[in-house]
Amino acid sequence: MVIVKNIELYSLCEHHLLPFTGTCHVGYLPTGKVIGLSKIARIVDMYARRLQIQEGLTQQVAEAIMEVTGALGVGVIIEARHMCMMMRGVEKQNSSMKTSVMLCSFRANQSTRNEFLNLVSSNI
Ligand SMILES: [Zn+2]
Repeated sequence: MVIVKNIELYSLCEHHLLPFTGTCHVGYLPTGKVIGLSKIARIVDMYARRLQIQEGLTQQVAEAIMEVTGALGVGVIIEARHMCMMMRGVEKQNSSMKTSVMLCSFRANQSTRNEFLNLVSSNI
């Protein structure tokens, strides 16, 4: 399994045209084809530049990694803080939103998913 953690993310929410920022964690199970770390970060950047919601961004990144690597499975987790939450009506300064998308073996195989989640949450 290949995991790239803590990819910085800057995007704009399509509902409110306000920024959301956070980190993205990507994992995939290669079938022989391994892509560079910078390529994964570029995929995240490419989709983050568009106007969207975090749920859609998570899905798009997962599908793009899947397509580029032909992996057996892909997992993507995004944790972000939204300016629309921090400065509008509800004014929640410390809330963050977490979204995840698990494709193929990451969805079908619980031990694969657990390996990904454990490695993302550990500091090793
Ligand atoms: Zn918003």
